[in-house]
Amino acid sequence: MSGPDAVYRLEDPFAFARAGGSRSGVIAIAAMPRLLDRVADTGGTVSYELRGRLDQRQRPLLELEVAGTAHMRCDRCLAPLDFLLKLASKVLIAEPGAAQPEDADDPETPEWIEAGQELDVLELVEDEILLGLPYSVRHGDGKCSDWSAEGGRGGKVSPFSALASLLDPEQTNKD
Ligand SMILES: [Zn+2]
Repeated sequence: MSGPDAVYRLEDPFAFARAGGSRSGVIAIAAMPRLLDRVADTGGTVSYELRGRLDQRQRPLLELEVAGTAHMRCDRCLAPLDFLLKLASKVLIAEPGAAQPEDADDPETPEWIEAGQELDVLELVEDEILLGLPYSVRHGDGKCSDWSAEGGRGGKVSPFSALASLLDPEQTNKD
């Protein structure tokens, strides 16, 4: 691989920030390999919007918003659960080797990253989702699926119903 895919490559992020640039697009969850062990399947997409500007100290700043859906699994009932992602973050960008900002300890100061002559937007979005995606999700109280009562809705067959018919063949034959 020689650098990011052209679609996701942001040439000169510093100029982008100074010019107040903006860029948006849609990325499939499946295109972000580091998410794959965190989701139940690779369905779902996110849309992103990246905007550049200068902060009060005239430093280049990138603002990223990500919204979309990740297919996860409920920790309690193991049924699929669409997790709605709605994330927003800001990062200051600095030339490689630049000194840490003097206000880096200020909790109000956004995180900063070193950026080169190009920035991989997909990687930035992927990082943002990795930080924003919880390790464990659950349906709301009382909202969990009762798989056995619903007879395996969604194509999932309860292992117990299969076992029951194996153990009681006469019952099945009588019908
Ligand atoms: Zn559940």
